[in-house]
Amino acid sequence: MSSVRSSSLGFPRIGEQREWKKNLEAYWNQKISKEDYVTKQKALRLENLQKQKDAGLDLIPVGDFTHYDHVLDTAVAFGLVPDRFSYDGGEVDLDTYFAIARGNDKAVAAEMTKWFDTNYHYIVPELNGREPELVHNRWLTLIEEAKKELHIVGKPVILGPVTFVKLSKQYGNRSFVDHVRSLLPLYTTVLNELANAGVEWIQVDEPILVGDVSDEEWSIIEEAYDWFAKSAPDAKILLQTYFEGIGALDRATKLAVAGLGLDFVYSNSLEQLKGTDFPKDKTLAAGLIDGRNIWRTDLTETHSIVKEILTVVSEEQLIIQPSCSLLHVPVTLKHEQKLESDLKAALSFAEEKLTELDQVKSVVNKENEPERLQAGKEAIEALNQSASRTNKEVREALERSKKEDSKREVPANKRMELQQEVFQFPSLPTTTIGSFPQSPEVRKTRLQWRRGEISNEAYEAFINAEIKRWIDIQEEIDLDVLVHGEFERTDMVEFFGEKLGGFEFTSNGWVQSYGSRCVKPPIIYGDVYFQEAMTVKETLYAQSLTEKPVKGMLTGPVTIYNWSFPRTDLQPGDVVNQIALALEKEVLALESAGITVIQVDEPALREGLPLKRSKWTDYLNQSVVAFQLSVKSVQPETQIHTHMCYSDFQDIIQAIDGLDADVISIEMSRSHGELITAFEDYTYSKGIGLGVYDIHSPRVPTEEEMETSINRALQVLDQRIFWVNPDCGLKTRKEPETVEALKAMVKAAKNKRKEL
Ligand code: GLN
Ligand code: ZN
Repeated sequence: MSSVRSSSLGFPRIGEQREWKKNLEAYWNQKISKEDYVTKQKALRLENLQKQKDAGLDLIPVGDFTHYDHVLDTAVAFGLVPDRFSYDGGEVDLDTYFAIARGNDKAVAAEMTKWFDTNYHYIVPELNGREPELVHNRWLTLIEEAKKELHIVGKPVILGPVTFVKLSKQYGNRSFVDHVRSLLPLYTTVLNELANAGVEWIQVDEPILVGDVSDEEWSIIEEAYDWFAKSAPDAKILLQTYFEGIGALDRATKLAVAGLGLDFVYSNSLEQLKGTDFPKDKTLAAGLIDGRNIWRTDLTETHSIVKEILTVVSEEQLIIQPSCSLLHVPVTLKHEQKLESDLKAALSFAEEKLTELDQVKSVVNKENEPERLQAGKEAIEALNQSASRTNKEVREALERSKKEDSKREVPANKRMELQQEVFQFPSLPTTTIGSFPQSPEVRKTRLQWRRGEISNEAYEAFINAEIKRWIDIQEEIDLDVLVHGEFERTDMVEFFGEKLGGFEFTSNGWVQSYGSRCVKPPIIYGDVYFQEAMTVKETLYAQSLTEKPVKGMLTGPVTIYNWSFPRTDLQPGDVVNQIALALEKEVLALESAGITVIQVDEPALREGLPLKRSKWTDYLNQSVVAFQLSVKSVQPETQIHTHMCYSDFQDIIQAIDGLDADVISIEMSRSHGELITAFEDYTYSKGIGLGVYDIHSPRVPTEEEMETSINRALQVLDQRIFWVNPDCGLKTRKEPETVEALKAMVKAAKNKRKEL
């Protein structure tokens, strides 16, 4: 009898206790030898495979494990090493690989950017100059290792050529299509070698298919997979997509591949599928378990979705799997001892998700009774019933807010006049983005306090001393708007999550963010509410030390939402607005304590943009409303700032203007002048600071360089609205370079003022 099979798209690399990170850092810090490092990572890789086998998976992904990032793995397999790393062919050694990712004393690291709309960052391949060649079939090596060590015939996972080129940069004088073409013969070799090694399925990821796919992209996709069908006829390709549905599903089903993988969680793939004529000779891999969030699945619903899918395809055509790689969720719930039991029962991390998958598979294949699938549903229902989930006051406030205008009453131009009367800022006022260097001492003391090794009083005294030191430094530098420095915060979302109601923190729920860096996103499980002032004490203390305004510093609702694991029983807009209303109370608390400038940071607003443009308007409207709600009730004289760490915002400039912040600061250094062009066609009339120096590098820029940046900005922006500030927060910098750079920045502003 034929039966449905199970598969997965990738497993977290980091290990149950972040062993992966520890191995990497031990090697980088020369605490362990290369051999030792390689051995340890191999053990972890095999352990991950064994776990997936034990979980009952039929097709086990191999090749998703990495020493840093899977996009970089793909680039180096094809010898695509940027020229500055003095590479002369052959398999790329580990140290060159790490140098590309992290830079070394001779060359800067490759750029890193967000992987689609997730919080994972990949290394951007640079295609310039070099002819690609297959220098190492890493997938084959890993497949053979799994076969030899564990008797697992894995499913290789490969980033497809079209997505790979799309995610790359520096095309040089070759077109996008030509770059893809130059890779096709190399992929063919990879595919043939894998087929000869006896693998059954080969997963080739083309997630760009879920965005807005241009005609050119569709044609090259068709050409590429036609090419493989002819040149590697024995390779059974499962063309995999995730994070959204494919717009033109019909067209995708006609591609020359043996199978198609679709996300059924973050899309309307089910309805689309029912409307297509899915070919009888193709396999459908259906992503049914949410690979991006941490909630347990209602498997009774999954079961009924499977039954609906089975009205379109046969059992032998169907593979069931998570919606995307499990890279985006923590490894296991096993080590969570402190979570409330009703919450813990409703959670599912990577290991638990594979168990869920196996349960559906057994029921679908009729080895088991469907009653077994009730448990997940019951756990979620129990959580929904629990008192922690709903807060009547929050719900009422949310409903009230929907009936009211979310904007500040007094219009921006009027507010600007009123504020200028109060503050009397010089032209080109200077400020910073919020954080100052978190020295090893700051980190150490915070850790000691968290562990209970030093008292609250001692910790507070330490933080205050640090605030005082930096207020003095800022006074001496003569900045116009000061900040307290954020020394009490580890992470800008965690800090607020820990203080607001409705959030919960795991002890071990780590997820890879980039390289060895892992984050532990908070879980939004209940209605979000304000419990007590979160930032007033430090801000007021700082303000008490100076005559100049000290800027209150908050993380905005959209960023808090985007960097958490949100509940899914409410609409995202409602959850974001709950956060906004809670933050509004903090804003008002700051204001009534006498703080007159307040910054609400939204660095994650742009990266949360949906993959399909048709969904942008809704997302942006929702984000704008949330931001506005968080600052709506302040006096017109109170100056609201916001900050965003990105510069490619031409497309969303209207929404950004719509936030209606009195002053916005935006990163400039990575935009290569594009940001300036955005203002040629758009009249921006509120306060704006385009970062005048790059904070990502320890290099101290000269006064002249910063004057040049200011001049460039003043070509398109009115001098009356322009602010002078660095690109972003300074917490990762060291103190001497920070002080020196800020001194030069203020001098540059002052020089320029004289000319105006
Ligand atoms: N206020 C924050 C800081 O200065 C902003 C950080 C960010 O934009 N990511 O660190
Ligand atoms: Zn920033």
